[in-house]
Amino acid sequence: MLEELKEKVCLANKKLAEYSLVAFTRGNISGIDREKGLIVIKPSGVPYDELSANDMVVLDLQGKKVQGDKKPSVDTATHIVLYRAFENIGGIAHTHSKWATIWAQACKAIPPYGTTHADFAHGCIPCTEKLTKDEVSSEYEKNTGEVIARYFIENKLDPLAIPAVLAAGHGPFTWGTDCFEAADNAAVLEEIAMTAWHTRVLAPEALAVDDYLLDKHYYRKHGPEASYGQKK
Ligand SMILES: [Zn+2]
Repeated sequence: MLEELKEKVCLANKKLAEYSLVAFTRGNISGIDREKGLIVIKPSGVPYDELSANDMVVLDLQGKKVQGDKKPSVDTATHIVLYRAFENIGGIAHTHSKWATIWAQACKAIPPYGTTHADFAHGCIPCTEKLTKDEVSSEYEKNTGEVIARYFIENKLDPLAIPAVLAAGHGPFTWGTDCFEAADNAAVLEEIAMTAWHTRVLAPEALAVDDYLLDKHYYRKHGPEASYGQKK
């Protein structure tokens, strides 16, 4: 079942380790088959170098395990909420990568200080509200997804235009059209978080780029008018 997607999700998870975004068994990636309504996710607590496609766990969008011998990632409920809320995404990554986690722990959004950021996201990388005591004590992982989804819905943000978020006091989630894009976006976010931090330290008065420069760079790489890269 979903052999190709399991291979892809397994490989994408290993990329998180290759990109030095995860330590030990932390972090996880999933992918979804929208037609079948099934997700494939990393098993909980298995080291990256030992992962194989057969270890991947298949679940439906109600969180019921459909296939797999292992327990799915503890963050599975967060992934499910995001797939249900963001119908245009195909893969999700979660890490505790250092620089992005620093911003998440500071509970601060990452401003688009330059064009590297604008190439990646069409605006700030938001930081969620903190979860309440009740939201943490009951259905914590589901509520982590809910607070992210709520932010994007209330602010009318397209998840593919802002492919990352910081969960307050926790760490980053990124996503994309598939699991590989989610992994790559986790790596780009880390670069952006690092450079933004240094920008802020060097020049606390630094401002986000002007909207016209943000638009220029974002739309050069994304959308129908994109001119970046080679014709496919
Ligand atoms: Zn986490």
